[in-house]
Amino acid sequence: MTATIIDGKAAAAALRARVGAEVTKFRAATGRAPGLAVVLVGEDPASAVYVRAKHKATIEAGMESFEHRLPATATQSELVALVDRLNADPAVDGILVQLPLPPQIDENVIVTRIDPDKDVDGFHPVNAGRLAVGLPGFVPCTPLGCLKLLQAELGDLSGKSAVVIGRSNIVGKPMALLLLQQSCTVTIAHSRTRDLPEVVRGADIVVAAVGRPGMVKGDWLKPGATVIDVGINRTETGLVGDVDFASASQVAGAITPVPGGVGPMTIACLIRNTLVSAARREGYAMKEGL
Ligand code: NDP
Repeated sequence: MTATIIDGKAAAAALRARVGAEVTKFRAATGRAPGLAVVLVGEDPASAVYVRAKHKATIEAGMESFEHRLPATATQSELVALVDRLNADPAVDGILVQLPLPPQIDENVIVTRIDPDKDVDGFHPVNAGRLAVGLPGFVPCTPLGCLKLLQAELGDLSGKSAVVIGRSNIVGKPMALLLLQQSCTVTIAHSRTRDLPEVVRGADIVVAAVGRPGMVKGDWLKPGATVIDVGINRTETGLVGDVDFASASQVAGAITPVPGGVGPMTIACLIRNTLVSAARREGYAMKEGL
């Protein structure tokens, strides 16, 4: 069997178009555009690429993009002061501080300083708590994008068995909670999991978020399983995921490629979250579910 390739680029373009259409209505109704503030500290080249891509997507969706760049030598109190200004600015609906931060700045201090109702990255503990108990908040963009790809591929996820490999706060844990919310039977695997291939073999849905190139092999998979590969690993042969695509695509029913799978959905979900934030703050009822 050869798997269906899940086209994350196309799904992301479609989501961005839906957000863009809704932004037009939002602007007509409220007289202003949703605004996303992105803060970049230092010159990390990968972070600069992400920030540029986020800026471009924001503008293309008809939103305001506010970019703030601080030097790598910026102090924690300077960054805190900037976050406080953005928290208080009514034109800013979403605040994203690009991680990682330089060593003199404590990420936890910054993440918890952002107003949870502008935390479109969903990293604030208040939003993590809201997700855990099922209250509306913001869900981190990467797992949200994975969920959307799974729902587009499989429809109702209820009753399916899912294995999430990885338990980070930004991908693995929120992914597992989202799947649980959809009534999947969820297993979270990590570096101490015993006999990972056997655990994965029981799953209808496999989400790999590990950071180890090609770790998940085709013979670990249940035939027909849906495989979401979150991994982004730079190797000598280029960008590869956490799943060994060549062998996995012979066994899976559907699989995301790397690149072109989960990555594009992450940015589309960021602008989606920004619009949702603006709508909540203005008491604007969105016309369609995003
Ligand atoms: P982390 O390093 O924070 O977490 C990795 C997780 O993998 C940990 O929970 C770790 O377990 C687990 N792990 C490590 N080795 C093994 C192993 N041998 N077997 C089973 N589990 C293992 O990474 P992130 O969650 O931040 O990111 C994961 C991957 O996703 C990375 O490649 C990253 O680049 C990519 N990524 C992609 C995004 C996108 O937009 N596509 C966005 C964010 C991340 P333990 O907790 O026990 O240490």
